[in-house]
Amino acid sequence: MQDLIRQLLAELGEDPSREGLLGTPRRVERALRFLTSGYEADVDSVLNNALFSVDYNEMVIVKDIDFYSLCEHHLLPFFGRCHVAYLPKGKVIGLSKIPRLVEVFSRRLQIQERLTSEIANTIREKIDLLGVAVVIEATHLCMAMRGVEKQNSFAVTSAMLGVFRDDARTRMEFLELIKHRSRPPGLGDFATAPACTTD
Ligand SMILES: [Zn+2]
Repeated sequence: MQDLIRQLLAELGEDPSREGLLGTPRRVERALRFLTSGYEADVDSVLNNALFSVDYNEMVIVKDIDFYSLCEHHLLPFFGRCHVAYLPKGKVIGLSKIPRLVEVFSRRLQIQERLTSEIANTIREKIDLLGVAVVIEATHLCMAMRGVEKQNSFAVTSAMLGVFRDDARTRMEFLELIKHRSRPPGLGDFATAPACTTD
């Protein structure tokens, strides 16, 4: 990989042998391996033995999970917050496992929509539950930095499964609980905007 990065630097018009860039291929490789380490992670070992039987059937919410990912169209970062809720049916999962799961799927080349549905589908598969909801709010540097449609560099995506899809009251309760402050002006509540385009 380091040879490729040296080549890339030369293609960009740089001199890969100048002092400031000498260590760059090594650092870029290490950074990229880390940022895509989700490919190596195994969901089952992440969730390992973290399912507990409980007499609890209220909504479980983990909100404001920070995440960083790379858009698969430009290999540039998109990042933001992920909110996850589910309605258990006798079993819950260790709370710390949800952010770990978000990490597994965000540390891959992604698009925001797929990241959202992969998290929701995995939780549905692994826990016996009545429903699961995932909302992701993210800023896409591939849009913001390239100067294309700056106003669309922020996007909200959601996946609602089970009762969160079928029951408007459950869905509203979740959306109400994650509603907050730091949203860029002009954005309606949970309006979905196209974030990354493939040009
Ligand atoms: Zn992109």
